[in-house]
Amino acid sequence: MNSIVVACNNCGTKNRIPADKQHLGPKCGKCKTTISISTTAVPVELDDSTFSGFISRASKPVMVDFFSPTCGPCRMLAPVIDSMARKFYGRVIIAKLDTSRNQTAATQYRIKGVPTLLFFKNGKLADQVTGALPEQELTRLLEEYA
Ligand SMILES: [Zn+2]
Repeated sequence: MNSIVVACNNCGTKNRIPADKQHLGPKCGKCKTTISISTTAVPVELDDSTFSGFISRASKPVMVDFFSPTCGPCRMLAPVIDSMARKFYGRVIIAKLDTSRNQTAATQYRIKGVPTLLFFKNGKLADQVTGALPEQELTRLLEEYA
């Protein structure tokens, strides 16, 4: 699981926060102040072993970017996905899954091309879009789930 390092606003202590805990109101390990991470949030990197559990336990709607590191449109979309993780922090959880290393989840959701974006609400697949979307269009789509 990927993680981010965020300095506490209150005491300055650097806290390492696993990406899948970003949305659970993490507190500083030293002074217990809630850490603000809306400007540093990153997509949660899921894999075959974490995918189903994460989706079913998510407290917010989840969008997952199924991508492959060798796909050009996926690389174009990546910074947009990163930006959405910050923009929709606290409203929609942004995640991604590398299909070249995680075939099980990709097969389960019949992913035929990448990038494919899956939208989950209450643990259920609600929508999916294949192809790289412009940032504006993706923002509009996510507003429907937020
Ligand atoms: Zn602190």
